[in-house]
Amino acid sequence: MIVMKFGGTSVQDAAAINSAAEIVLGRVDRAPVVVVSAMARVTEALLRVAAVAKERRVDEVLAGINELRERHLTTARELLGRTNEPSLETVEREVQSQFAELEDLARSVATLGELTARSQDAIVSFGERLSSVIVAEAFRSRGIPAELADSRGFIITDDRFTRAAPDMQETTRRTREVLEAIIKSGRVPVAQGFIGSTAEGVTTTIGRGGSDYSAALIGAALGAEAIEIWTDVDGLMTADPRVVPGARRIRVISFEEASELSYFGAKVLHPSTVLPAVERRIPVHIYNTLNPSCEGTLIVAEPRPSSNVIRSIAFKRGVTIVNVSSTRMLLAFGFLRTIFEVFDRHQTSVDVVTTSEVSVSMTLDNTDRLEAIKLDLSGIGEVTVEREKAIVCVVGDNLKFTPGVAARLFQAIESTNVNMISQGASEINLTFVIDESDVDRVVRRLHDEFFAEVDAEVFA
Ligand code: ADP
Ligand code: ASP
Ligand code: MG
Repeated sequence: MIVMKFGGTSVQDAAAINSAAEIVLGRVDRAPVVVVSAMARVTEALLRVAAVAKERRVDEVLAGINELRERHLTTARELLGRTNEPSLETVEREVQSQFAELEDLARSVATLGELTARSQDAIVSFGERLSSVIVAEAFRSRGIPAELADSRGFIITDDRFTRAAPDMQETTRRTREVLEAIIKSGRVPVAQGFIGSTAEGVTTTIGRGGSDYSAALIGAALGAEAIEIWTDVDGLMTADPRVVPGARRIRVISFEEASELSYFGAKVLHPSTVLPAVERRIPVHIYNTLNPSCEGTLIVAEPRPSSNVIRSIAFKRGVTIVNVSSTRMLLAFGFLRTIFEVFDRHQTSVDVVTTSEVSVSMTLDNTDRLEAIKLDLSGIGEVTVEREKAIVCVVGDNLKFTPGVAARLFQAIESTNVNMISQGASEINLTFVIDESDVDRVVRRLHDEFFAEVDAEVFA
């Protein structure tokens, strides 16, 4: 069996869902499990609904919900309006009832004027719950024996709402139980990405972009032959094509390289996706729903040699640097531990760390708890914060074996102010922090430098 995950743009409207149906139809004999995201931009819209509900702006809550309702109903009608079956009616009823539930929930948030992480998860879960209902019915009407499978019945997580972590054992056990039964009966499960539930049955979400992760969890649990991530680009590229129009497609990349890239901002793949697949040695493919005949990118266990030093450039905007300096304590025992305990306590993860004799610098992308963190750190040393930074990361297995890459890289961008430089322990990435306003220029410059010529075996 295979897992096929369709991202937001791949289910964004009737045309996209039609393409997805074509693609799945062509693979029915490989026993697919389909995982879907919310329609493009719906998760953001639901987060906005939650935020205005908290502010008690009921009119905006209702306007937001109405717009979403229209969009989903229009898509359902476009997909199912021409069939003679009663399926449109069934879907409309289900969609309406989900929106009634969503409205109740948002209204109670507005009444209380309080938004917990738990109610936020309940609200955003509707994105995937709605898209999956429409997709499953559209698939059925196009000859795919689809059956809706509620992921909350088998993706079992802890209760860290908004970024819940799956309980692997329980998730594996239940995923097998639920999905294998559907597959054995010759049907095609259509499950929601991104959402799960606690052991007690409370709805959770597993972090933004988490549908990729859902697909990997399901693939690992079922021992899939392959996991297919269907998205809106031809594959993993040498850089984000929105910034570098001449970016090339990477034909093959190792799990390790792909995971470094996604961790440092290549949004095409969720960072946690790769791990469950690696552990089971399941190949992951990235394909383009709008260009299904393109061979995409294959992510494999072992790196393939290439004559290019690096395989891709990733970046992450909106990064904040926190510096802690102390002449007294830095070399003292436990200094770093004390600092990291602060971040731990505030459940904030740190991406890049550099140390000097008198200071430690760390980057964060989540600044929700920054004020509290600063307060706690001020007991340890002098704290300064620099905002509007970006992380740029070049990745390639060849970095291990090629001397002088750093010199070449910094030479290429010599006029740029660089705040932090770090080479990951894996030795396959070189990461540095710059002003956010320099990102586009730097990434294009590095792309010119490292991909002027490409190894045709590895890049398309
Ligand atoms: P989906 O909704 O299918 O999950 P995402 O928007 O999460 O899609 O990811 C696909 C997007 O990732 C692409 O449209 C592209 O702009 C962006 N992206 C960033 N870095 C890369 C990269 N190195 N290669 C390909 N796409 C990238
Ligand atoms: N819909 C969720 C998000 O936008 C999950 C996903 O698309 O992967 O973050
Ligand atoms: Mg995504």
